[in-house]
Amino acid sequence: MHHVAARLIGRIPKVEVALERDAAMAALAPHQFNLLREQGLGSFPLVTAEQVHGNHVTFVGEPSASPIPNSDGLLTGVRGITLGISVADCAPVWLVAKDGSAGGLLHSGKKGTELGIVPEGIRSLCSMTTLSPKDLILVIGPCIRPPCYEVDFAAEIRRQAHEAGMTDILDECICTACHPERYYSYRRELGLTGRMLATLTLLPR
Ligand SMILES: [Zn+2]
Repeated sequence: MHHVAARLIGRIPKVEVALERDAAMAALAPHQFNLLREQGLGSFPLVTAEQVHGNHVTFVGEPSASPIPNSDGLLTGVRGITLGISVADCAPVWLVAKDGSAGGLLHSGKKGTELGIVPEGIRSLCSMTTLSPKDLILVIGPCIRPPCYEVDFAAEIRRQAHEAGMTDILDECICTACHPERYYSYRRELGLTGRMLATLTLLPR
């Protein structure tokens, strides 16, 4: 996989995040952007999504200062834009063309998985390109899992991707609630916590 940067910015211990979602995200945002900058990704505009636990994905063709409304997935074929999805127990799912020509980032928790945002993302990415599901790699990031949570939505995501025709499906099987020193967990922290920032950038060639 060339010319693609995928990142997950986990817990930032120095930032107080025992707050409601919007306040916690506002406190974290400048620190997260600093970390992206330190990794050489600071010059790319960050495009985020409203995230309503739905299954709607949006193609991002240009920078956007405000979050893309009614979207839990962002896809792009444009180089030099960073897609960002915020999570704390829901799964960040990266979908990347093996040739680095296109990619997407999906927010798939219990609800989004039930609604099929991952197969929707695979279908949409293939329909806007000449790629087929076998040309894509899917990566499931840290999310809450059994026994910390009663629903194994990561397993369902793997099943959905397989059913959609994908063969390269990677899951490191990391549970957010098991590693509070590294990740935020909405459930473990009873709703008052921060959000990790998952990003995907198609780097300029
Ligand atoms: Zn766990």
